[in-house]
Amino acid sequence: FDERFAEQIPGSLRMRDRADRVLVAPTHMHRYFFPSTYPLFVREARAGRVTDVDGNEYVDLSGGYGPHILGYAHPVVTEAITSAATAGPVNAIGNEPEVEFAELLVDSLPGAERALLCNSGTEAALTAIRLCRAHRRRDTVVKFEGHYHGFSDQGMVSSWFRFTGDKHAPEPIAGSLGSQRAVVKGTRVLQYGDIGGLDRLRAEADDLACVVVEPLPSSTATLDREFLTALRERCTEWGVPLIFDEVVTGYRVTYGGAQSLVDVQPDLTLLGKIIGGGLACGAVVGRADLVEMCRSTEDPFLDYEQRAFAGGTLSGNSLTCRAGAAVLRHLRDNPHLYRELEEKTERLRDELIESTRKRGIPCRVGARGAIFSLNFSHRSAGVYRDRMAGSNFKATIALAYYMRRHGVYIPELHSFLLSTAHTDDDLAVVGKAFDLSVAEMADDGF
Ligand code: PMP
Repeated sequence: FDERFAEQIPGSLRMRDRADRVLVAPTHMHRYFFPSTYPLFVREARAGRVTDVDGNEYVDLSGGYGPHILGYAHPVVTEAITSAATAGPVNAIGNEPEVEFAELLVDSLPGAERALLCNSGTEAALTAIRLCRAHRRRDTVVKFEGHYHGFSDQGMVSSWFRFTGDKHAPEPIAGSLGSQRAVVKGTRVLQYGDIGGLDRLRAEADDLACVVVEPLPSSTATLDREFLTALRERCTEWGVPLIFDEVVTGYRVTYGGAQSLVDVQPDLTLLGKIIGGGLACGAVVGRADLVEMCRSTEDPFLDYEQRAFAGGTLSGNSLTCRAGAAVLRHLRDNPHLYRELEEKTERLRDELIESTRKRGIPCRVGARGAIFSLNFSHRSAGVYRDRMAGSNFKATIALAYYMRRHGVYIPELHSFLLSTAHTDDDLAVVGKAFDLSVAEMADDGF
């Protein structure tokens, strides 16, 4: 494996060795999961493509894990960042870009009243959970198996590939060494799509601070309207705030988020990625009484007992807010972009399915609103762990390396994403690379 790749990327391999001496792990994938057999170091990123330090060009389907919906270096974003930098980056002082950005966020989500800005999806989840705990004066958080809400102790509970307990009543599992055991134990884990599981929760409803869910989980790229409607009804009945994590899906599946597709309104929405235009950004948007749990009162001493705190030196800085506002305005004013993205998504999905079907290779491709989840697996139904159990992980990871040899960059273990900048030519390169890759992988015994 290594040898075939080495010829193509000598510069990247040298950079990896250099990085290995100073960084905790040389590549992003290595930091998350494992060393990459085909580590890439990128010199330039434009529209739907990236060029590595050796001069190889790849159609990029990583989209930086989500932010670059308009493709890399879109003029709207570049101009916004350049002009904000020229005006002088303002943070920790009130500024107009922050106000304008918050207006766009609040106006884009049905029923949203207030926005709280932060610097990542992880921070958005942490903050929203704190707001709900403060509001409810309760600790327990409900989440779903396989759903990742950032790298906090709670956000990672049962979000990876290890499962224990009854599949309809999973035991909470720490996602990281060093997680506080009390936090992990104080998390209730359910299965997305399992309405029976919600009903069994009824007896504990009074102890719950909130329920947090990815309405359209990117690991499967499926959307269960009936389940989300049931979840909304239960949360309303129990008086428990419902949080939608739309860090990936926000402004990707449509302007707004998955909530607009199913017409189910959460109490709080977590946002990140796209809303920063490629700069570090997160937001909690939703009901005023919840978000304002962190608003100070006139008595700072009383505050400790009556409000939650949320801060951040760079939260609401003018550079990020200008970049984010430019992306949102562009998406809002060009709704045809979403129709085109959906059309491209369906076309590519059908092509990928056909490549594997004609060779009798078990493969499941979930695709919705420019998000693709691909598993070499027969299983397309069941709860999260059923689908994972039937997956050929080795093949899924190897696919990323075969695709790189054919000029397409997909992350090893992540959904892959289309941008509005991907052209028909780009899609043709992807289709051909996939067809060649699965044929070679079959020959190589995957
Ligand atoms: N929520 C979801 C659904 C995510 O996919 C991610 C990141 N992949 C996060 C939260 C965390 O966002 P960040 O990496 O910006 O902290």
